[in-house]
Amino acid sequence: MARYTGSVCRLCRREGVKLYLKGERCFSDKCAIDRRPFAPGQHGQGRRRNSEYGLQLREKQKARRFYGVLEKQFESYYEEAARRRGITGENLLQILESRLDNVVYRLGFAASRKEARQLIRHGHFSVNGHRVDIPSFLTKPGDVVAVREKSLQAGRIKELLESAESRTVPAWLERDLSTSSGKVVRLPARDEIDAPVAEQLIVEYYSR
Ligand code: SF4
Repeated sequence: MARYTGSVCRLCRREGVKLYLKGERCFSDKCAIDRRPFAPGQHGQGRRRNSEYGLQLREKQKARRFYGVLEKQFESYYEEAARRRGITGENLLQILESRLDNVVYRLGFAASRKEARQLIRHGHFSVNGHRVDIPSFLTKPGDVVAVREKSLQAGRIKELLESAESRTVPAWLERDLSTSSGKVVRLPARDEIDAPVAEQLIVEYYSR
């Protein structure tokens, strides 16, 4: 499966905002955007031209990078969001939030979405009792996401479960640490999604 393998801190610096792609490091003084708060590359410190299109493009890229989604899949999420009732931009964010890798991350069972993707691919999670190893799996209200029994003894999983208590879980999810699981109660409202994106600009980008 195709995936981005370059430096992720570079992506934050490109977008000019913390995208929290590295887990614990993002909260330390080693964060690259705190140290070098300008775009990467030879012209990173030069003047930025902000055309309307440029702003829309940057917003789309930012959302894509925040959730770790490649171009084609992101476009298909947009098409699905436009088909659904309601506000397209909000629908898009709800779809992105309901990805299994995001739910695992939001439940505090991984330090970043990237780590969540890796753990899911390695078969450490189940949805409604069935092993699911597809990070892009879309959860729906009522779904129960759990660490699989045989993974509970894995070193990294143990570590994550111990530190999960200190992580706040959004109101649209319900976590039960005694069973190492979490439930999707409902779809998140816009003000419960902390993605640093102006989704309206993404809608404008795709409506050109
Ligand atoms: Fe972004 Fe985290 Fe790297 Fe900071 S440490 S630049 S927030 S990925």
